[in-house]
Amino acid sequence: MSITHLSPRGKVGIDDSDRSREFGRGSSPRRAWFASDFHLHEGDPAGVERACQFIAHVREQRADALFLLGDVFRAWLGKQSLEEAGLAPFLEALRGATQSGIRVVLLHGNHDFLMGSELEEACGVEVYRETLDISVHGQRVRLMHGDAFCTRDVGFQRLHKILRAKVMRWMFARLPRRLLDNLAHRLVHDATRTTGTKSQMTMAIVDSEVVEVLHTGVDVVVCGHVHEARDVSLGTALSGGRLVVMADFERTGSHATLEEGRLLLHPVDARFAPATPGPIVVTIDGPAGSGKSSVARELARRLGFPLLDSGALYRTVAAQALAAGLDPGADDLAPLAQSLELGLSEGGQVTLAGELVPDSLLRSVGVSAVVSKVSAQPGVREVLLPIQRSAGRMGPGLVAEGRDMATIVFPEAAVRVFLDARPEVRAQRRLAQNPGEGATLSEVSTALADRDARDSGRLHAPLARAEGATLLDTSELSLEQVVGRLSGMVREASRLD
Ligand code: C5P
Repeated sequence: MSITHLSPRGKVGIDDSDRSREFGRGSSPRRAWFASDFHLHEGDPAGVERACQFIAHVREQRADALFLLGDVFRAWLGKQSLEEAGLAPFLEALRGATQSGIRVVLLHGNHDFLMGSELEEACGVEVYRETLDISVHGQRVRLMHGDAFCTRDVGFQRLHKILRAKVMRWMFARLPRRLLDNLAHRLVHDATRTTGTKSQMTMAIVDSEVVEVLHTGVDVVVCGHVHEARDVSLGTALSGGRLVVMADFERTGSHATLEEGRLLLHPVDARFAPATPGPIVVTIDGPAGSGKSSVARELARRLGFPLLDSGALYRTVAAQALAAGLDPGADDLAPLAQSLELGLSEGGQVTLAGELVPDSLLRSVGVSAVVSKVSAQPGVREVLLPIQRSAGRMGPGLVAEGRDMATIVFPEAAVRVFLDARPEVRAQRRLAQNPGEGATLSEVSTALADRDARDSGRLHAPLARAEGATLLDTSELSLEQVVGRLSGMVREASRLD
């Protein structure tokens, strides 16, 4: 099969009937690529780059035609969009494609319905308003954006009609630039906001609308718009038909191809899809009293990430060992750790048989005194390792604090920090944290020094700064200053700014 005839509807710029004849008599493309919903804009250079890669690919494949079925741009404002520096590489890629002899056709979407002759002249492309029929080996294939099928979304359809009325287009073409900018901003903003509040059902394609089109002699409908790929047989026994919906190129790299007479949908293509960033893990290691817990808690709160307090896991095992009358210094506690139903809540808190473990138990003097003996046991560490690692998959990110977060548990973490502070400052902080325990400063100092020595001197996963981890001495820094520094590191790592 090959495309033998192309006939346009609603051609922009040039009179429909003229273009129709010209189009029909043109060469018959045999290899065509289709895509939609790139939503390109100045603020997304990576998206523009992926779109350019796609066009380069289409050229490499020696395609005859490229059909872009709407919402190629997040907003198109006529001539002024032509001058947007961020879009320049894409416009250049379009120009390159048409100059190399590829027929590039753009259809209006609901975001870029102001594309017109300015784009045709600048890039040599052809722009159509509503639908374009192409004939593939006698089969009529209708190309369109797809928004016209979403008739359950009454408000959207009404707006669609108003915005695309001829008189509106006339008006848009004459609006001063600033007003047009504001309007476009409002429309895009409103569209995004209302999309978030509408149900999937409201925004979905209404199949009966497609069937109606298939009843008019169309054999295949190809569209985009709803951001979900679909390739289905629709229609009745009398008139079978096919609907091919491409997912949005922006998130999936989805497209369709016509090669050797076969129209194929590619729901995703990792080559053109943005790399999905994994959860951002922030590790905070350091000795007791270095400020880890407070910093980690505040940072997790600000980022909206779960918080893994790994010490709480060791403390839970220690508390259970004491309750069972075991000696943490002598008995092997791995079987006990294994038998406990340890888990993590959604926020990352330690649970025992599904229940949160109370802080009063975990932070008791008795538990604090023996916990470093428990954590020195390699068997116990082995049992607790997978539980800690599972926290890295719980949310969009994780703040994990402990002694071996960067060295053992999350060596690949995006942000790795080692907090420290002078011993007397750490002792002061500990004393201030637990005033009710009645210990003197020198007692707290000695207990901390003992624990530090055991944690740093043990054979397995000792307290140590991982290679490449950032060392931060918090002795003279406020909580706000430390959290601010870490937030900055996270932003840099995830390029949130
Ligand atoms: O952080 P916290 O003081 O609650 O930790 C209690 C103890 O648990 C530490 O002194 C250390 O022995 C152990 N621990 C560990 N590895 C971690 C976290 C805590 O060995 N990642």
